[in-house]
Amino acid sequence: MPLREATVRDPEPGLAEVLIGIGACGVCRTDLHLADGELRAGHLPLILGHQIIGRVQESRSDQFAPGDRIGVPWVAWTCGACRFCHSGAENLCQRARFTGSDVDGGYAELAVAHGEHCFALPEGADDSELAPLLCAGMIGYRALRLAGDGDPLGLYGFGAAAHLICQVAVREGRRVFAFTRPGDAESQAFARSLGAAWAGGSDEAPPELLGAALIFAAVGALVPLALRASDRGATVVCAGIHMSDVPAFPYELLWQERVLRSVANLTREDGRALLAAVAEMPLRVTTTLYPLSRANAALEDLRAGRLQGAAVLTME
Ligand SMILES: [Zn+2]
Ligand SMILES: [Zn+2]
Repeated sequence: MPLREATVRDPEPGLAEVLIGIGACGVCRTDLHLADGELRAGHLPLILGHQIIGRVQESRSDQFAPGDRIGVPWVAWTCGACRFCHSGAENLCQRARFTGSDVDGGYAELAVAHGEHCFALPEGADDSELAPLLCAGMIGYRALRLAGDGDPLGLYGFGAAAHLICQVAVREGRRVFAFTRPGDAESQAFARSLGAAWAGGSDEAPPELLGAALIFAAVGALVPLALRASDRGATVVCAGIHMSDVPAFPYELLWQERVLRSVANLTREDGRALLAAVAEMPLRVTTTLYPLSRANAALEDLRAGRLQGAAVLTME
């Protein structure tokens, strides 16, 4: 369902929350899944957007003061009490609330967020360059870590997340093989420009078996393809929140200790780790900018694969 522009009452920060004047908000495939009803929103009408960059206007959190530059990620709140929160897996919190899904998000001029779950951001880069780090970067980074250090690393779907994680992996000294939609020469050239050693269609066999693979595209049929392209012992990580059905595949594709797993959400530690990595080695963030009023165009361009890198809404 297309988004509708509306004037709503300014949000007010509750206890431990901050009010943020938004500068930019990244557009994520999850936003499309929510808009399409493939994922159920916590409430309707809902303001989408979970890669928010802005400045604190009003603070009821002891973490932030007015004027601070701040980033709001996908995980808006965790309970701190369930067995997952207690074991360092707050990404799996049974009562977690999510930005732009349970809580109104960043396709707006103002948002409120829980201070404990926001990230302090350095000055310097543009809001629009920082926004894609908040989901594509942070959850992509978690997926990379869960895949282990296998080499070469296969990336399936070369969008916002892969274009960042490709650069991280290359700087770790790994070879990246990028798989795109068959025939998408433009995305393959984009991947090579960011350091990928090989780029081809997802239907092509890579020049060498993969030591690890991340699947960013929401296409279940890629799972057996990635397993088939992977060497024994390799881990294949499905990095998206939603995927079309995974077709049946012969057990021999999983045999020899290949591991197939998903990644869900992020912990605050994942976010801090990505920001620390970026501070040491700035990434080239490729964005296509849209004013807030053109959010529907951004979503449709993302759906059609008409842009390279990340789509970002800007509020100025
Ligand atoms: Zn996202
Ligand atoms: Zn919890």
